[in-house]
Amino acid sequence: MAKVMIVDDSRILRKILTSTLTDAGHEVIADAGNGKEALLLLERFEPDIITLDITMPVMDGLEALVKIKETYPNITVVMVSAAGQKSKVMEALKSGASDFLQKPFEPEDVIKVINRFV
Ligand SMILES: [Mg+2]
Repeated sequence: MAKVMIVDDSRILRKILTSTLTDAGHEVIADAGNGKEALLLLERFEPDIITLDITMPVMDGLEALVKIKETYPNITVVMVSAAGQKSKVMEALKSGASDFLQKPFEPEDVIKVINRFV
């Protein structure tokens, strides 16, 4: 079981990820709609794993990743990317992301990635 924070500007995607992870026995302890919100929540919550969308308003996933890794180097970050974002994914992996999940994904893809870090 992992404690997971979900960061995505799509409410539907946050719901899908929450139910998928909860059904698989993980605990979703917080969710946020952009990187700035996520950083604020990290002052109160201690997730083991963060799923971090790349494209978000206010603060995108790449900027948030750098800040998260600066302050919380032990949190595993899994990027959530869209088709055509290969260079951003590569950049994220260089900045400390542990893996990525490309949209659209199936529940088993989510669980497989998260379970790599449990
Ligand atoms: Mg997005």
